[in-house]
Amino acid sequence: MNTSPWSCLLVMACLLPVPALAGPPGAHVHGAASLQVAVDGNTLSLQLETPLANLVGFEHAPRTAQQKQALRAMADRLRQAGEIFTPTPAARCTTVSVELESPLLQPSPPAEGDGHADLDGSFVFRCENAAALRDIEVGLFATFPRLRRIDVQVAGPRGQSAARLSPQQRRISW
Ligand SMILES: [Zn+2]
Repeated sequence: MNTSPWSCLLVMACLLPVPALAGPPGAHVHGAASLQVAVDGNTLSLQLETPLANLVGFEHAPRTAQQKQALRAMADRLRQAGEIFTPTPAARCTTVSVELESPLLQPSPPAEGDGHADLDGSFVFRCENAAALRDIEVGLFATFPRLRRIDVQVAGPRGQSAARLSPQQRRISW
């Protein structure tokens, strides 16, 4: 045996596919969220998937006026996508659409599920100068302090990449 365990570990780390670094998509972990970034021509699309606990601190149907208000406020903040996500200013991106999906945002949310609920957000921007698009500053941590980590996957003109964001590392660049 002339290969040490350490060299094997090193090789395995190098061969890890990108998705493995980002964790399984759709896993429901409080404190963590996933974000898929796609750049296609002039269109920048962001798909956010997060446990509701990260956004409002609960995942059951709202029981009090305060909880209903918290859900409304959370949705209002996310609909202001241009204040949450800041693409490279030179790319001149503007919000085209925001779609939010969650059982708790339905007119009559289910009273009891399995105790957990997610929110899926779809944010689409149109960029006048997409060639200048190089990064996105993500403001979710400041708005939703329960959020501690975002696993990001980017599919753009330079191929695919992955990144992990935290309150200290809020910028995705490619
Ligand atoms: Zn949960």
